[in-house]
Amino acid sequence: MAHFVIVGGGVAAGKSAETLRKEGYDGDVTIVAAEPHPPYQRPPLSKGYLAGKEGLDAAVLHPASWYAERDIELRTSTTATRLDPAAHRLGTDGGDLAYDAVLLAMGASPRSLPLVGHDLDGVHTLRRLEDSDALARELHEGGRRLVLIGSGWIGMEVAATARTLGNTVTILERDPTPLALAVGPVMGEVFRRLHTENGVDLRTGVQVERIVGRERAEGVVVDGETVPADLVLIGVGAVPNTALAGDAGIALGNGILTDASLRTDAPDVYAAGDVANAYHPLIQRHLRSEHWDNARKAGPVAARVMMGDSARHDGIPYFYTDQFDLGMELSGFPPLMIGADLLIRGDLDAREFIAFWVDHGRVVGGMNVNVWDVQRQIKALIRSGDRVNPDRLVDTDAPLDSILV
Ligand SMILES: Cc1cc2nc3c(=O)[nH]c(=O)nc-3n(C[C@H](O)[C@H](O)[C@H](O)COP(=O)(O)OP(=O)(O)OC[C@H]3O[C@@H](n4cnc5c(N)ncnc54)[C@H](O)[C@@H]3O)c2cc1C
Repeated sequence: MAHFVIVGGGVAAGKSAETLRKEGYDGDVTIVAAEPHPPYQRPPLSKGYLAGKEGLDAAVLHPASWYAERDIELRTSTTATRLDPAAHRLGTDGGDLAYDAVLLAMGASPRSLPLVGHDLDGVHTLRRLEDSDALARELHEGGRRLVLIGSGWIGMEVAATARTLGNTVTILERDPTPLALAVGPVMGEVFRRLHTENGVDLRTGVQVERIVGRERAEGVVVDGETVPADLVLIGVGAVPNTALAGDAGIALGNGILTDASLRTDAPDVYAAGDVANAYHPLIQRHLRSEHWDNARKAGPVAARVMMGDSARHDGIPYFYTDQFDLGMELSGFPPLMIGADLLIRGDLDAREFIAFWVDHGRVVGGMNVNVWDVQRQIKALIRSGDRVNPDRLVDTDAPLDSILV
């Protein structure tokens, strides 16, 4: 009987195991997950779970019993330490496993920032449930001074949650605009206004020098001024956990390189989720996406391919966020969105609009802000690759289904 091993404890790992059983694979399945929990999803950790509005069940995909009932061996608190693709063996800190196919879904880790003071008490990063718990313990009472270094999605979401819980929040960002790398300067300004209107002190174009304090963080020095802090969150991006694959000689390049079916260059070794830099057939280049939806869809594709199917991971990258009273969904291909024209359909000031990124007359990205049930049409426009009529695109009376040239 075949033995499939899944390394990881996030949504890619959980969804791939789920798919194996759903699709009728009746061989052995083992999940090797470093964290002490069954596979879980992280978006609630900066939103509802951090705010105390949602419990563990909002994050965990299935309880441990679900895996046992489906004869899936779940080895939590177990780290894969060595991969030998030629011998088809995986070493872990709980013993070796022989496999027929292995899926690497090790995700990513917070990028470290080698600032003086980064190791003081009260300096946080956010990736795991325990990180969110630690932040929640500090923020739930309210009245604390949180300083965020970095204005990426996680930082902005935590800022919104912390403010809503009654804390003072300062964001320190090196770039001139928040979220500039993710959505560009114009959309970044939408988020700046949202945050400043809600009382966040958002400072851009600044240089963080160090974190100061005796044992605990007491402040962050920025451009010579000390911003007082009770706690600090460093949110400057994530790096894919590629060491296991790299040590095994598997080809890397901004993650583990795979083809469109999530095969690595080693036999019977697959990769999915944040860790994978997969070839995207629609844009004919590799794309590493650090989004929940990508991992949620890639896990099942990898599972089907492990079972002998010819599935391909060719969805349009999708992301969502909730901050204060702003809900947003974004679909598109970031490499094509850079430098594309930005067209707005709706009311930017009222924060009720769709932003389209249009490159050579074709939609390559679309972001709906406080406008709902339009993602199907946005994705269809992107996928079609056809030219659009820009006047109709921004005309809120023109149905989105009718704007191809
Ligand atoms: C706080 C937060 C909020 C987010 N919010 C959003 C959001 O609103 N929208 C969105 O689209 N995306 C969001 N994301 C991103 C999203 O959570 C990730 O894209 C997703 O978690 C990727 O899933 P994954 O399964 O690839 O990896 P991960 O979720 O990172 O899981 C990988 C797992 O593998 C384990 N592991 C690593 N190495 C080993 C090893 N050697 N042996 C065994 N196990 C190992 C890790 O411990 C981890 O549990 C958020 C992320 C964070 C941290």
